[in-house]
Amino acid sequence: MTSSPPRKPRCARFSPQGAKKHLGRPGVFLERAYVALGSNLGDPQATVQAALAALNDLPRSSIIAVSSLYLSAPVGLRNQPDFVNAVAALDTHLSADALLEELFAIEARFGRRREFHHAPRTLDLDLLLYGDETRGAARLTLPHPRMHERAFVLLPLVEIAPDAVIPGHGPAAALLEDVRDQSLTRLEPVLAGKTA
Ligand code: AMP
Repeated sequence: MTSSPPRKPRCARFSPQGAKKHLGRPGVFLERAYVALGSNLGDPQATVQAALAALNDLPRSSIIAVSSLYLSAPVGLRNQPDFVNAVAALDTHLSADALLEELFAIEARFGRRREFHHAPRTLDLDLLLYGDETRGAARLTLPHPRMHERAFVLLPLVEIAPDAVIPGHGPAAALLEDVRDQSLTRLEPVLAGKTA
C-alpha cells in the first residue's frame, strides 16, 4: 500500500469565490490581525459582506476566519439605525501601518465620510489587534483603545478566537461579563464553525 506524503499544515482560508490565495514568499514575516467591521447606512449586511471580500483581496493577506454578523445599538449618538458588526481574523504580511492604510482605502471605496464623532457610517473598519503589538500613537493605537469595552467587538472576537488576549486587558472572553448589559443580537454566521 502506498502512503501519500505528509501534507503541509495550512489555515482554512475565507474565500468568497472559493479561490485560494498565496500569501507571500516563504519566510516572510506573517502576522495575525483582527479587524472589526461595522455599518449602519444603506444595506449594512451587504456592505459588511462586501467589505469582507475586500479584506480577503488585500495584498499579501488572507482572511482565515469570520464571525457571525451581529446587530448592535449605536454607541454615543442614539438616534440612528442599529449597526451590523462582525470581526475577521486576517493573516498578513503587511505591516500594521500598511494594513491600516488599506483599511482606510476600503472605507473610502465604500463611501465613508468622517463627518463627526459617532456619526452614522457606511463602513467602519478598526484594527483591533496586530499580533501582540502595543503602541499609543493617535493614528494607530494597538490594541484598539475601546475594543475591550464593546460587546459588539468582544463577542464576535471570542466567537472566532476563544483564546484571544488583549494586551493590557487580558483574555477577551473574561471581559464579556463587563459588557453583558450592551444590546447585541446575533444574525446568521458568515462561515459556520470556523475559529481562528
Ligand atoms: P473612527 O472614526 O472611530 O473609526 O476613528 C478613526 C481614527 O482613529 C483614525 O484617525 C485612525 O487613525 C485612528 N485610529 C487609531 N487607532 C486605530 C485603530 N487601531 N484602528 C483604526 N483606527 C484607529
